[in-house]
Amino acid sequence: MKTLDTLTFDNRFAGLGDGFSTHILPEPIAEPRLVVVSESALALLDLDPQQAQREVFAELFSGNQLWSDAEPRAMVYSGHQFGGYSPRLGDGRGLLLGEVLNDAGEHWDLHLKGAGMTPYSRMGDGRAVLRSSIREFLASEALHALGIPSSRALCVTGSSTPVWREKQETAAMLVRLAPSHIRFGHFEYFYYTRQHEQLKQLADHVIEHHYPACLEQPQPYAVLLKAVLERTAEMIAWWQAYGFCHGVMNTDNMSILGITFDFGPYAFLDDFDAKHICNHSDDTGRYSFSNQVPIAHWNLSALAQALTSLVEVDTLSETLDLFLPIYQAHYHDLMRKRLGFTSAEDSDEELIQRLLTLMQAGTATDYSLFFRHLGDQAPAEALKVVRNDFVDLQGFDAWAADYRTRVEREGFEQTERQARMHAVNPLYVLRNYLAQEAIAAAEAGDYAPVRELHQVLTRPFDEQPGKQHYAQRPPDWGKHLEISCSS
Ligand code: AMP
Ligand code: MG
Ligand code: MG
Repeated sequence: MKTLDTLTFDNRFAGLGDGFSTHILPEPIAEPRLVVVSESALALLDLDPQQAQREVFAELFSGNQLWSDAEPRAMVYSGHQFGGYSPRLGDGRGLLLGEVLNDAGEHWDLHLKGAGMTPYSRMGDGRAVLRSSIREFLASEALHALGIPSSRALCVTGSSTPVWREKQETAAMLVRLAPSHIRFGHFEYFYYTRQHEQLKQLADHVIEHHYPACLEQPQPYAVLLKAVLERTAEMIAWWQAYGFCHGVMNTDNMSILGITFDFGPYAFLDDFDAKHICNHSDDTGRYSFSNQVPIAHWNLSALAQALTSLVEVDTLSETLDLFLPIYQAHYHDLMRKRLGFTSAEDSDEELIQRLLTLMQAGTATDYSLFFRHLGDQAPAEALKVVRNDFVDLQGFDAWAADYRTRVEREGFEQTERQARMHAVNPLYVLRNYLAQEAIAAAEAGDYAPVRELHQVLTRPFDEQPGKQHYAQRPPDWGKHLEISCSS
């Protein structure tokens, strides 16, 4: 175990030099106060929960104090935003404070989001508001608890520093942890500015520290793209299987590690809608729920384009062709588990597709609770309960008959089936309206609701006494909340 005073820093990215990032100090916020902290994220740094009780905790994680071994730097990157190329983005309001080396030998980037202006702030003020910091905190930790690859969140600190968005709000800072903050957009920046030597340096850095197995291959850079593609395809499969809509899949928001990254106007689906657009600013639905699959493929092509000085074009194209089959294999695997199947049958894909078509037609089906309820009781009874929410009852009955036959072939025993299904089908989901209620309380100075919501979401599969109200469908006001990019 460590204390805040004994963290070990090993700042590898900073070592790449000024062509990759700019040294700049965080700009403190006034009267920092700890809003919420993640104990499991603290553990990644070998910190016990008592450390968060210390006054210095909020000081350090709000940029008001700095470790002597930290080396705060703003990273430079670019990226395709809504399909158009933006030649220079970079950390406009976040700083990589340094890389903490834990006792297990892992490196964790300590990233302070909302740390003030940098050379990459463009028109922005370098700040993050309390609302969006809480949203990113809750989503990172909720996804992680579901088993979905994601960056992590250590804590949120609030302040009295005013910030202007559509109205006056207050500044906050989020501490994000990830094994790396390198994005697809980092590669694009060096490619489009024709810094081929630096591009190679970046690729070597990523391979050495994050994909060392590539070094054993005859074509390490080609294998790097394949490895990134595999991880990205798996991440997208998780999103689609669990109804997570990211909302801003620009290439600067795509992690080179294939982890969910940079949370904006995301949403978990309430009722199932393949066309759902969670980002109010996404007029054309480029990042709608079902488009996440082709968009991830598109983003990987943008990454492949940036690697053309290192790998033959034909090799890159062949690698890109692997995306869809890899995605589909993961997706069907996850969906089979959600339906309680332990084996794979050829007809499963059709069964899954028919279910989604039926859900799409019905307005009352809650995507998450459907799977949960399906495991609650033996199939005959469970199907009767979920049937009520479907509109096409004839279609549903036909599906239900096929589902029952399929489950019978599994030779199920209900107690075991329930345990298996409940272990993969969450009872508690981060619905936008739940986040909204917790945020409203936090904005009024009461942090208890956001802390409680976070606690509930750390064990999404376990029924928690007294927490039934977190497992409800959204009330009418809470459906289709409009969340914009402004944050
Ligand atoms: P995002 O939409 O959060 O992925 O951000 C896209 C780009 O805009 C990144 O380069 C961010 O650093 C930058 N950015 C977003 N908000 C601000 C802000 N308030 N101040 C400065 N830069 C920002
Ligand atoms: Mg971003
Ligand atoms: Mg963002």
